[in-house]
Amino acid sequence: MAIVESADGAPNLPIDGMLKPCTSGTIIPKSSSRPSIQAQFVTHSLWERKNCGFFLIVAPALDRSANAACVAAAIVYARYNERFTCWLLSMKVTLIPVTPFQQNCSIVMCEATGRAAIVDPGGDVDRIIEAVAELDVTIDKVLLTHGHLDHCGGAKAIADHYGVVIHGPHKEDAFWIDQLPEQSKRFGFGEAQVFTPERWLEEGDTVQFGEEIMEVYHCPGHTPGHVVFFSRENRLALVGDVLFAGSIGRTDFPRGNHADLVRSVQEKLWPLGDDVTFVPGHGPTSTLGHERRTNPYVGDRKTA
Ligand SMILES: [Zn+2]
Ligand SMILES: [Zn+2]
Repeated sequence: MAIVESADGAPNLPIDGMLKPCTSGTIIPKSSSRPSIQAQFVTHSLWERKNCGFFLIVAPALDRSANAACVAAAIVYARYNERFTCWLLSMKVTLIPVTPFQQNCSIVMCEATGRAAIVDPGGDVDRIIEAVAELDVTIDKVLLTHGHLDHCGGAKAIADHYGVVIHGPHKEDAFWIDQLPEQSKRFGFGEAQVFTPERWLEEGDTVQFGEEIMEVYHCPGHTPGHVVFFSRENRLALVGDVLFAGSIGRTDFPRGNHADLVRSVQEKLWPLGDDVTFVPGHGPTSTLGHERRTNPYVGDRKTA
């Protein structure tokens, strides 16, 4: 069994949950475009080290360098501005950092049907379209966590391009969406168009692409209409700017509220389970369990 090391030393992945026990058999679901054998070794050695939650990390770099370096690259991918794909149980997720704010736009795909949703297309629309073409998936809809420019600046352009609907965020974020063109000018982004989602989302709603269903949680604080998407089966949450690896979202914007944000994390996110991997709006992924133990703003020690 290969020992996984990287240029920075052995990767210390902030991942502690396991979806199912490591087995000697393959843990990679069958599909046409599966990761290389090299990638499977990476996964297995990580599983043996019990610090790989459940996802397989496959970076574009995987095929061109040592597997270990790729694992490290995927975890700190934001630094490299490279997109990468995680294979989960029944879906896969491709992250594309977009805009000058390096916002994690996600393409979540149902493996059974090849249908996908684009979550938070904040900008760099051409790069997103290029990624979709390479992935060879059919886009069902655009999903939005909240109304900030870096998350929905490209939503209208993407929805128009694919002829699909926009779902989310919660209607309390309408005032942010209304300001998109002005915000875009202020931050020197490309054109950002105002839109009205076909559906505003609320606590308890679900969204669907192909056969995949994600639960919707209303998590105000960073913005009043922020929502989080959760795949219970795949143990994955897309949390936007609510929670980050080692940090939490800013609350100094109009209608931001620190107490609300802390409550959202503790009452909505923590109950999803320590094993849940989350993709934040910016920076590397982490697990809810790791943040509960170590996050200086919302961890259990902070609030005990
Ligand atoms: Zn934000
Ligand atoms: Zn953001």
